[in-house]
Amino acid sequence: MVKKMHLLIVEDEVAIRTGLVDVFVYHGYDVDFAEHGEEGLRKALSGLYDLILLDVMLPGINGFEICERIRQQDRYQPVIMLTARTSDEDIVQGLTLGADDYVSKPFSVTQLVLRVQAVLRRARIGDEMEAEIHLKNGLLIDTQNLCAGDDVVFTRREMDVLEYLNSQAGRPVSREELLVKVWGYASQMEIETRTVDIHIAKLRRKIEQDASNPEVIVTVRGAGYRLMVSMSE
Ligand code: CA
Repeated sequence: MVKKMHLLIVEDEVAIRTGLVDVFVYHGYDVDFAEHGEEGLRKALSGLYDLILLDVMLPGINGFEICERIRQQDRYQPVIMLTARTSDEDIVQGLTLGADDYVSKPFSVTQLVLRVQAVLRRARIGDEMEAEIHLKNGLLIDTQNLCAGDDVVFTRREMDVLEYLNSQAGRPVSREELLVKVWGYASQMEIETRTVDIHIAKLRRKIEQDASNPEVIVTVRGAGYRLMVSMSE
């Protein structure tokens, strides 16, 4: 028997919360919810949930703080942030704090269900990927522990991007393909393409000698991004 996925929805607006609970129960999820920040934080840190949908603007502790606390405890806990904020700065903040994805209100319920499925799928695939990636510049990526050496730490999403690029054996991968395969988007929009670029920029700062002159994640004009791995094996 397939295990039911256990979802936590942290959302103070009753209409949205009730709607989300109904939708995910309909899709076969086991759903719990929290109505304010303190309750959300307590439940989120319980380790009981396969995925947490987290509103940003909450009474009490806000969603960014909750996300940060979750990450201090568990780097692998899948989290999707829900928010009315759409500026680049807020997206960067959410991603920096380690959310796996970021959905802006008003959102399409179908799109949200697909994104939840994609994050859960990647969380499972992450268990089966190669343990190490040897980059062209000598850096050794530990895919299980989301790090390279002692100093470089990756978010789950950054590692998913690296693993997907690595799985494509040096082929350039377009932003659109990354959005579909790594983020689980059904179609692309401008803001989502920027999300890919933000992640690539963050990865380059972590793994390139000179992020302004990348040699590991190379941009192939008109084709996308190519990961340069070590050929010495
Ligand atoms: Ca809210």
